[in-house]
Formats: sequence, C-alpha cells, structure tokens
Amino acid sequence: MFVPLEKLDRILPDVDKRNWVYPQKISGRFTRGRTVLGYVLIAILVAIPLIRINGLPLILFDVPGRRFVLFGQVYWPHDVWLLFFLLFAFFVGILFVTALWGRVWCGYTCPQTVFLHNVVLKVEQWLEGNRNQQMRLDQAPWTWKKLSLKITKHLIFIALSSLLAHVFLSYFMDVRRLTYAILHPSWEYKAPIIFATFMTVAIYTDLVLLREQFCNYICPYARFQSALLDRESLIVGYDANRGEPRAKMAQRKKEGDENFGDCIDCTKCVVVCPQGIDIRNGLQLECIHCARCIDACDSVMDGIGKPRGLIRYASERELEDGAPAHPIRPRTVIYGLLMLASLTTFIVLAVNRPMIEVALLRPAGAVWQPLSDREIANHFRLKLINKDAEPVHLQLILRSDQPLRLIAPVNPLPVDAGAERATEIFVVGPAELHGTIPFTIEIRNKETGEAHTINGDAIFPDDRP
Ligand code: SF4
Ligand code: SF4
Repeated sequence: MFVPLEKLDRILPDVDKRNWVYPQKISGRFTRGRTVLGYVLIAILVAIPLIRINGLPLILFDVPGRRFVLFGQVYWPHDVWLLFFLLFAFFVGILFVTALWGRVWCGYTCPQTVFLHNVVLKVEQWLEGNRNQQMRLDQAPWTWKKLSLKITKHLIFIALSSLLAHVFLSYFMDVRRLTYAILHPSWEYKAPIIFATFMTVAIYTDLVLLREQFCNYICPYARFQSALLDRESLIVGYDANRGEPRAKMAQRKKEGDENFGDCIDCTKCVVVCPQGIDIRNGLQLECIHCARCIDACDSVMDGIGKPRGLIRYASERELEDGAPAHPIRPRTVIYGLLMLASLTTFIVLAVNRPMIEVALLRPAGAVWQPLSDREIANHFRLKLINKDAEPVHLQLILRSDQPLRLIAPVNPLPVDAGAERATEIFVVGPAELHGTIPFTIEIRNKETGEAHTINGDAIFPDDRP
C-alpha cells in the first residue's frame, strides 16, 4: 500500500532524520601528518599484491588454492595453528595501542578513515566546493546543473569503489591472474566477478552513503573501545578547566575577557569534525580521535593570542587534575609482553617450520609377514605433506645397523605443492634376525637436497612357525 511521505512522518514520529555531516576543510600539523600517512598507506595497500618474493606475492589469501602466502612463504591448512600466534599478536596489539594511545587506529590507519578523509571528502570538495557551498547546493532546488554535478560525483565514486574493490580482490587472487581475468572476461571467473561486484557495492555504500554512521553504529571496535580505554589512555580531549566558562568575543568585550575561560565558542572544532560531534561534550563513542578539532582550535588560539592546546592529546586524568599520564601501567606492560611473545613465537616457528612433514604408521592387520623362506617383511604406511609452493620428488632411503632393505612402489615419490600423499612401504630383513630392529628412513628432497628423517621399528618375532 502506498503511504504518502507526510503521512509516514506522522506514523513514525520518532524516527530521527539523519543530519548530513559537511566537515569544513582544515589544515594544521595533525591533519598534514594524517594526510601524508593516509597516502603512504594507500600506496602500501596497492603495492603489496604487486611486490613478489620467491615469485609469490608479498601477501595472498588464496582461498580456492587453500593456501596463504606471507612474505614469500606459503602456509597450508596444516599450518593454520601457526597463524593463531599472528592473530593473537594482532589482537593484543590493538589492546596495547588503544590502552596507550586511545583510538589512534581509527583516526590514522583505519581504511574507512583513510579513504573517507583522503579520497571521498577531497573529491567532494573539488567538485562541490567548501562546506557552505556544499550545504547550499544540497538545499537548493534540483536543476540540470545540480543533477549533472551529483551524477558526475556518484559516477566517480562508483569508479573509485570498483578500483578499490579490485585492489582488495588482488589480496585473494594473484594480480597476474586478476589482470588476465579483467582483460579476458569470461564465465570461468564468475567467483571473482561476483566478489568484485559485491565489494564495489559494499565500499560505495560504506564510504559514500554511510560514512560516519558506519563508525557510530556498525563498527564493532568502536563498541568495545570504552572497555579498552582507561583514565590514563591518550585521547583527544577538551580542557574544560581552561576553556570554561565559554563566551563569544562580543560578550567578552562587554563583560571582560578575564571573567571567562579560553573557549570563545566559535564552534570551529565542531564544523571540522567528520563525525559531527562537539568535543567539548567530553569523550564520546563517535569520536575517532582524528585530531582535526585540535588543528581547528590551535588555529583559533593562534588568532586570539592564547596558548595552543585547549583541545589536545591528553589522558582523561590529565584533563581533570593536570597530572601527567603514566604510559607504563600493568595493563600496557602485560599487553606489550603478550604481543611481543606471541609475535616472536610466530616468527621462530614460521622460520623453523619444516617444509616436509612425515608420519610413519602401521596399518591394521599383520605386523609382519614372510616374504620368502629367507626374508621377513614389515608393512608400514608413510604419510608425506609437502608445504612448499613447488612440487617435489622425495627420495626414500632406509638406514639401519642391520641388513634391512626398503621396498617402496614409487621411489622417488612425487608430491604436489601443498599436497599430502600416502604410500605403502615394506621394511625387509633376513629371516635370521630376531626381536625389534630399529631403523631410520631418510626422506630427501631431490630438488633442494633438504633431508628429513623418521624412526621406526621392524619386528622379527622369535615364535614364528
Ligand atoms: S571530536 Fe575531534 S578528534 Fe573526535 S572525531 Fe571530531 S574532529 Fe576528530
Ligand atoms: S575551536 Fe576552540 S575556541 Fe572554538 S569553540 Fe572549539 S574549543 Fe572553543
């Protein structure tokens, strides 16, 4: 049933209308630093899939190939446990950084912030002008000029979203294959096409439509930040002791500047905020600690000849009673040590991980069997896993103090990259032997010369018929 818009407003009187945020352009030391860092991070994001080590991309999550490439090393499903240490280090690293420097991830390195502030807002300012011009344009009635401007803007955003979606895809599909798939589109590449389309829609929805709403209502990190911050964590904060009572310049002239705090209530810190909040209301969930309000307020303080830092990086404790923050606290020490321990464990295990894994098993049934009147054979199953990115040929060599020999149906044994292969083998010895005879099987990679060994026991029972 069609419901007119005015009627819908009456039916749903409590539904808030979104206040579109038009952040004013600002320059200053933090904004400059964030801009440079943002472009460096974008360059790194684009470059990582293009850089190759050992012929492999620097990072690749090859889901169909069931492998993960990190710095030229291939990790297979059997190595997933190793990645636990890396993920744990990352998780504890976030706790560590947040406990020390608050939401520095959100303000400086989060992809959402980096692309929104350095690409989307810049394109918008370039096409539609500054904050006031953008507001006037949006409030103005629709004209052909306005329509063509809006269509151009959204076409640019769709193109940029698609570009970013393909950069993202190159972390899951080798960039050479991706380039080929783009140049030779076919149904064979339906999975990447669906993925890229989905990502384009998701990125466009997030960066162009949702913007700060994503941080405020969807991002889980913002939700639990209050649990990660304590009174000693560094935050972007307004020094109410110094700023209040606030008063505009006209009131100060009338009643005397000395009767007021340093805040001249110019709201410059509010209009530059990309989250649409007023930092003077205290620490808020929406604040991403981007420090744009610091630059704005510093420029105001410079203009009225007062010291900078009315809005600044400080701990909640420092803002309340002036006591300096203590970066070395039990939680930062514990988080830091856990992060270092986990990262070190991952590096040590990853560097020393064997590229070939071997297991020697006894199949169910007879342990031994006569091969002839003169020999006894022990039956084993040898399981081999090749973790290398290349196929290998593994030469099996039996070593023992006793005159044992090895029967293997295929030797050297080819094993594909990242594959597991099992083979039946027999350890054969003369019938005169008695008891348990230890032996070692050496598995030599014919391509690299790398050798692995596994020990076993052959049984030559005394009570055989
Ligand atoms: S209040 Fe300041 S630091 Fe927080 S989001 Fe707004 S501009 Fe950034
Ligand atoms: S920019 Fe500084 S002086 Fe202006 S309203 Fe904000 S806190 Fe007050």
